Amino acid sequence: MGKRVKIPIKTEAEIRKMRIAGEIASEVLQAVAGFIEPGRTTAEVDSYAAELIAERGGTPTFLGYRDFPANICISINEEVVHGIGGARRIQPGDLVSIDIGVTMNGWIGDNAVTVPVGSITQEDRRLLAATEQSLFEAIDHARDGIPLGDLCGSVESYVNGHGFTVVRKLVGHGVGRNLHEKPEVPNFRPEGRSPRLKAGMILAIEPMVNAGVGEVDWLDDGWTVVTADRKSSAHFEHTVLVTTGDPEILTWRPRTALPEQLGVIL
Ligand code: MG
Repeated sequence: MGKRVKIPIKTEAEIRKMRIAGEIASEVLQAVAGFIEPGRTTAEVDSYAAELIAERGGTPTFLGYRDFPANICISINEEVVHGIGGARRIQPGDLVSIDIGVTMNGWIGDNAVTVPVGSITQEDRRLLAATEQSLFEAIDHARDGIPLGDLCGSVESYVNGHGFTVVRKLVGHGVGRNLHEKPEVPNFRPEGRSPRLKAGMILAIEPMVNAGVGEVDWLDDGWTVVTADRKSSAHFEHTVLVTTGDPEILTWRPRTALPEQLGVIL
């Protein structure tokens, strides 16, 4: 028997608070995505996000989490996740992944997007399109009664089917009052018994997809995760409420990496 996992089920009142946190996290993410331009430093992007979060009465969830030193995560090209804003200037051709968590009245919205800067390579465009679509493959499984393993497995099978790989050392997670709640939400089918999803569970689903190998390294700052072969990586994330009907994306935003938007065929 696999280990039992007690997954929090949110009440209606809690879901209402999560909707507010999700909406604000999404608003800030979209504004920060629009702020990404060649010449800006990643520290400027981080400060801009902090301002927008403060204006809305929230706090940046990641700041100080296990001593994380920045307001948001900004990860460029071969950086997968957890990059720290600094003096680096964004350049044309970069893939900039932004991951933003916002705490509002004690409840958390968590979301991420990868933004192409200027013209990017065809492979990078395919990588973005496949990663965003893999998130939606998973979201479509966020329904009452579906085994969590099916949701997780749908990411890897979609990604592998398009010639890319998923990162296995980092996973999505339940989210609520705490940034990382049960269950873990890997981007591959976990071994053993898998719990069934129930209405009221809230998951941060976040495919991290690499153009080359799925293995990753950590930089000396102790945070920034990079691909082992230093090829590109992409990251898309939503906070999603499991329901008995269609999944509810609490951090909803318009899609930005559809194949037709990027001019590629998947
Ligand atoms: Mg997350």
